[in-house]
Amino acid sequence: MQINDSTFSVPGFPELYDNINNKSASDVQAALGRDQCSREDLATLLSPAAESFLPQIAARSRQITTQRFGRTTQIYAPLYLSSFCVNRCAYCGFAADNKIPRRKLTVEEAEQEAEILHKRGFQHVLLVTGEAPAKAGVDYLEEIARRLKDKFAALSIEVQPLEEDEYARLFKAGITAVAVYQETYDRVVYDQVHLAGKKCDFDFRLNTPARAAAAGMREVGIGALLGLSDWRCEGLVLGMHLAWLRKRFWQTGFTVSFPRLRPAAGAFSPLVNVSEQNLSQLIFALRIFDPDVGLILSTREEQRFRDGMLGLGPTRYSAGSCTAPGGYSSDEHEGEQFSVGDHRSITEICAMITDKGFDPVCKDWDRTFQA
Ligand code: SF4
Repeated sequence: MQINDSTFSVPGFPELYDNINNKSASDVQAALGRDQCSREDLATLLSPAAESFLPQIAARSRQITTQRFGRTTQIYAPLYLSSFCVNRCAYCGFAADNKIPRRKLTVEEAEQEAEILHKRGFQHVLLVTGEAPAKAGVDYLEEIARRLKDKFAALSIEVQPLEEDEYARLFKAGITAVAVYQETYDRVVYDQVHLAGKKCDFDFRLNTPARAAAAGMREVGIGALLGLSDWRCEGLVLGMHLAWLRKRFWQTGFTVSFPRLRPAAGAFSPLVNVSEQNLSQLIFALRIFDPDVGLILSTREEQRFRDGMLGLGPTRYSAGSCTAPGGYSSDEHEGEQFSVGDHRSITEICAMITDKGFDPVCKDWDRTFQA
């Protein structure tokens, strides 16, 4: 793994795989004995050898999470604006060749959806589109940001990768954060599952978090879609990508997401199995590696797992999510990107968090801090 000042370079997975799989129980004990977690320690904590130390790793992750974030959990909701997409990602319900009903919200319809979320108590909304710049480009996103920014404390986007000047425009319009997941850092698998469209360009996507941070975004989220390639290698590269970004963009806050593949139109089967235990180990390892990173556990995961993980590493949960445009104003959820695993409302999620002795935090930022 190379870290230099201009680009982030991803090694081949076979090299990473060998390193991770050669770790021993004594490596794990040594890693847990150190105050600061190095890149090699991260590889160790992700290794098969670490599986028998999972209770100790979970305890360390919980201790760090409480120390850095207190007994709090941030809450947000996605707001799907458009399901049009020009790419063909084999695993996604919005892929261009899937025959699903497509919809793009008008600016007024987006405001109505946002009003519903606002009335439910959300202060942080993630605006999501497929990747179809001709349908939902920067002008459209800019207009929506201007209309919604006074209603919410934080507006994030998860849309097609943009250029730095386009992110700067959106930041000025009221967007505070960008989420862009590499899906897989395994170039071989990346080429296999990205069948057509601009998303086939691995490096353009890889450099997107840096462009968003350079544009001044307050927060940038990275992640890997689990179920495409070896999760241990994905975790190691995620950690390295995060460390590279932190070193270069020290003013920016960073988050990491761990989306596991969910059922979707197209009926793609995961290429590798990632169990709840695997996902837990990955989350704990990332927490120990970077004590300050925000870790997101979305409604892709089921209620039982999300409840059990509270306080152990994740710091942000989505709630009451619908993954189809217009899904909050209607009971008709046809055309979803994927089906969610936890269907509880924000009220139910907040009650669960409170019952477990934590504070749900809907607002952790105020626009007056934004110059
Ligand atoms: S993952 Fe994103 S880019 Fe790929 S098909 Fe789905 S919406 Fe389009």
